[in-house]
Amino acid sequence: MNRLVCDVLIIGSGAAGGVLAATLSESGNKRIILVEKGGHFTHEFFNQNELDMRVLYAEAGQRATADGAIPVRGGECVGGGTTVNVALSFDPIAGVWEGWKRDFGLTGFSFDETARDYGIADLSLAVATREVRRRVNVHAPPDDQVNDNNRLLAGGCASLGITARRFELNMRDCIGCGYCAEGCAYDRKQGTMITFIADALARGVQLIHHCEIAQLLLEERAGRRVAVGARGVVHATTPGSRPNSVASGPLEIRAGLVILCGGAVQSPALLLRSGHPDPHGIIGRGLILHPSLPILGLMDHDIVNYRGISGSIYSDHFYRSHGFYFECLFGHPLYASVVFPGIGADHFDLMLGFSRTAAFGVMLVDSVDKANRVEWDRIHQRAVIHYRLTAPDKERLRFAATKAVEVMFAAGAREVLLPSQEPIGALPTPRFRAPAEASACSELQFQPYMTTVTSAHCQSTVKMAEDPRLGVVNSRSESHDVVNLLICDSSVFPTSCGANPMISIMAMARYQGRRVVAEWSRYGL
Ligand SMILES: Cc1cc2nc3c(=O)[nH]c(=O)nc-3n(C[C@H](O)[C@H](O)[C@H](O)COP(=O)(O)OP(=O)(O)OC[C@H]3O[C@@H](n4cnc5c(N)ncnc54)[C@H](O)[C@@H]3O)c2cc1C
Ligand code: SF4
Repeated sequence: MNRLVCDVLIIGSGAAGGVLAATLSESGNKRIILVEKGGHFTHEFFNQNELDMRVLYAEAGQRATADGAIPVRGGECVGGGTTVNVALSFDPIAGVWEGWKRDFGLTGFSFDETARDYGIADLSLAVATREVRRRVNVHAPPDDQVNDNNRLLAGGCASLGITARRFELNMRDCIGCGYCAEGCAYDRKQGTMITFIADALARGVQLIHHCEIAQLLLEERAGRRVAVGARGVVHATTPGSRPNSVASGPLEIRAGLVILCGGAVQSPALLLRSGHPDPHGIIGRGLILHPSLPILGLMDHDIVNYRGISGSIYSDHFYRSHGFYFECLFGHPLYASVVFPGIGADHFDLMLGFSRTAAFGVMLVDSVDKANRVEWDRIHQRAVIHYRLTAPDKERLRFAATKAVEVMFAAGAREVLLPSQEPIGALPTPRFRAPAEASACSELQFQPYMTTVTSAHCQSTVKMAEDPRLGVVNSRSESHDVVNLLICDSSVFPTSCGANPMISIMAMARYQGRRVVAEWSRYGL
C-alpha cells in the first residue's frame, strides 16, 4: 500500500476540482494532492476519432440510466467534463441563486462585486465569476465562426419572431475544427486541464491520475465524525496518457481537509459507499439531467454541420415562460447514429443524408423529483442512475418539441424528424412533412426506448441547504455530518442551475476556494 500525506486532498479534476486545486494553491503554503479516476490525455493524443476518444468518457461513453433509456454523458479524465464539452458558457443566473437563498436558506453567493461575504474581502460570486471568465477566456465568437447549421437555427427563429442569441464560449483563437467533444487537439478550448489545473501544477500541486477513490476515510473523534483522507487504487497508465506521479497499486492518502468533486453521479456514490451518514435519506436523490431532445432537419442541399464551432447560436425565448432552450449542436457520425431514428434500411438512409442534416436540441430545465436518483449498487459495485420525466416536464417538452419542429421548417427543412418511434396522431412516427403537422407533438409520450432524450448535465444529488433535512452540505459546501469534508461540484446545486452548468460550477468552486484560503484555521490548517 502506497501511503501519502497532505493538507488538502481533492477528489476529481473536472470543472470544480480543477478550479479548487488552482485557487487553494494560490496561498502557496499547503501540500495539495488532486486525484482523478481517468487518465491525463493531452492535445497530442486527441486524434479526432470518436471511437478512440471514448477513453475520455465515463463508462467509455456508454453510461446510461439503469433502464438503458437515456444516455448520460460525462467526462472521466483530467479536466473531467471540461475536456470533452462543447464550451457553451452561461454565467450563474441571479434569479436561480436568489431562489436557493429563499428556499434552501443559502447564505453568501452575492452577485454584487463590492460584497464581502463572510466578512472576506472580495468574496462574492460576482468576483469569482469574473475571475473564471477571464482565466478561461469566455467570449462570443465572431460572425465568421458561425457555421451553416447554426445559421439555420438563427434564421428559423428569426422568421418566427423567436429571439436567438450568440453563445459565449470558453475558447481562445478557435480554428473551428468541430471536434470539441473529442478533446481539443489544438489547445484552443479552455477547459480546466490547460487552464486552472496547469496553474495548480505549476504551483506544486501533485496530480495523481488513474486513481480511483474507493472510500473516504471517516474517523470518530470526540463524538464527531471527521474526514481524514481516502483510500483507492492507482490503475496502470492507459496508453496515450501522460506518465503518473505514483506507481500503480493500492493507495491511501491522509489529509487535513478532503474536498469531493467527483460530479453528480460519482460524488453521491462515493458518499454512500463510504458510510457517510444519511439520516434523512437524501444523498443521491432529486437528480437533475437537463433532458435534451434532438430535432433533425433534412435539407435539400449539403450544409456545414460537423465543421466549425458546433454550438454558437441558441434561443432562450421560452426560458422564462416554459423553462427550455433551443441550443445548436451537432454530433459526429458515431454519436449521431445513436440519435438518428429508425432501424435497418431506414436508419442507413438517414445516415447517408448526414451531410444534408441540420440539427439543434431542446434543452429542458427539469424539475426535482425525489424518485430520480443515483444509487450505489453494492452487489455490482457501480453507481446506478434512475430517471423518469415527470408529467409536468413531459408537458413542457411537448410544447418545446412543437415549437422546435416549426423552427426547423422555418429554417428550410424539407422534412423534420424527432428521434422517436412513437406513433403520434395520424403519423406512424414523428417524421413531419409540413409545418402544420408539428401540432401532433402534443401526443408525444416520451416513452423509454421509443423516444431518445439525452443528457450531459447531471446535477443536484448532494444538495446544498442550511437545513440538514433538505441538503447534505451547508452554504460553505461543508458536510452537515462529517467535519473537514467539503463537497463542491455539480451535485450540490439544490435544483437545476438553470442553464448549461460549467461556468456556474467553476464560479462556485472559485468562490469556495477563495473562502477556504481565508478560513484555513476553520479546518485546523
Ligand atoms: C459531452 C459533454 C458536453 C457538455 N457541454 C457543455 C457545455 O457546452 N457547457 C456547459 O456548461 N456544460 C457542458 N457539459 C457539462 C459540464 O461539462 C459538466 O456539468 C461539468 O464538467 C461538471 O463538473 P463537475 O466538476 O461537477 O464534474 P466533472 O467535470 O464530471 O468532474 C468530475 C471528475 O471526478 C472524477 N471522479 C469521479 N469519481 C472519482 C473517484 N471515485 N476517484 C477519482 N476521481 C473521480 C471523474 O473522473 C471526473 O473527471 C457537457 C458535458 C459533456 C459530457
Ligand atoms: S472547434 Fe475550436 S475549441 Fe473545439 S476542438 Fe476545434 S479548435 Fe478546439
